[in-house]
Amino acid sequence: MRRRNQSGNAEEIDQTAPSAPPLGHMDFVAGYDNVKFDNYGVGCIVLFPPPPAYGDVIRPPSVNSDMHPTVPAVTEEEARDALIKYVSTKWCYSSKAARELVFTNITPSTALHYQLETFTEGRQASWTYEPYNGLSVDSPANGPAPQPWDVVVNPPEMFKDGNYCTIVPHTASVKTCYSCSGRCAKNCVKCRRKGHIRCTNCRTGYHGRRGRKMQCIVCFGTNRISCYACNGAGLSPCEICCGMGKLKWYIKLEVTWKNNNAHHVIEKTTLPDHLIKNVSGRIVFEAEHLQVAPLVTFFEGGINTASQRLVKQHANQFAGQKILQQRHFVKMVPVSEVAYTYNNDSYTFWVYGDENEVYEDDYPLRRCCGLCTIS
Ligand SMILES: [Zn+2]
Ligand SMILES: [Zn+2]
Ligand SMILES: [Zn+2]
Repeated sequence: MRRRNQSGNAEEIDQTAPSAPPLGHMDFVAGYDNVKFDNYGVGCIVLFPPPPAYGDVIRPPSVNSDMHPTVPAVTEEEARDALIKYVSTKWCYSSKAARELVFTNITPSTALHYQLETFTEGRQASWTYEPYNGLSVDSPANGPAPQPWDVVVNPPEMFKDGNYCTIVPHTASVKTCYSCSGRCAKNCVKCRRKGHIRCTNCRTGYHGRRGRKMQCIVCFGTNRISCYACNGAGLSPCEICCGMGKLKWYIKLEVTWKNNNAHHVIEKTTLPDHLIKNVSGRIVFEAEHLQVAPLVTFFEGGINTASQRLVKQHANQFAGQKILQQRHFVKMVPVSEVAYTYNNDSYTFWVYGDENEVYEDDYPLRRCCGLCTIS
């Protein structure tokens, strides 16, 4: 990689090469004039606000206000089986109490879980580069660059987080590497361009004392060996352009998809509400649109209020993002509060969800805190 000028002497390579190109270095691309570099620090990108949403007629969904479905309570046998299964996941619990407890009451109730999902897309662009590989590039000569939201990119899956990067068409150009000024190489940092380093097997090229000196078998008495970092050339390829001398610059468009969830649970016992979000039940209402309309006629007023609040919140929450789709549902989840006695003391546990999950905080036969679970 050592470069020689016409007189045969190695050229001096500029070691004060710029760490970043000047902004004026880049071409003007209509619609992307504020775009900066992405390789040099935070904030050097531009987030594009989405175009205004097109008119979507929102009609409140009709929900049968007389619909008051109930979910069945668990039987004593089901409750006991659920508790025994739960206890078997806790290494410090004994199943004796679960097998021998005496039921005193099972109180069924229904929890309601409302969930709103808003699937959004964000777009940001930045100037970036890669070593030029010699192939033709899609330059502005091929036509005007499409505007950020006109570049066609579809999410691979709706309501699932993801991201995708692509080159904005017609923005590529080839420029001389700003770091090595097209020289392809820089001075080797290991040998400082000398091409050799000191031999570490000897101090002077010889071992032993005067009269019995033996030549070093590694450097043959020179105390120098060829630099392993540059193979003795004194120069190493420029890391910015990978030794190509040129860079392909283009505007990179980064598309990010995010599924935003909001929940509201109505659960009337002392079972922690958040547990209801993670179990199955019966879906009694669901809808999916570009923008869903809040519920107004659901038989439980608290769900209507929550739906209106969360739909409004999501409508204003995602500045700079485009809402691609929304969906919401109401799920009815069975909850059974189970009272029992064991050794003349009273206890309670809950069985909830179609999976018959169990929650308790006072199981009688446990030998520690109860937080340890068999995984
Ligand atoms: Zn040596
Ligand atoms: Zn070297
Ligand atoms: Zn370079």
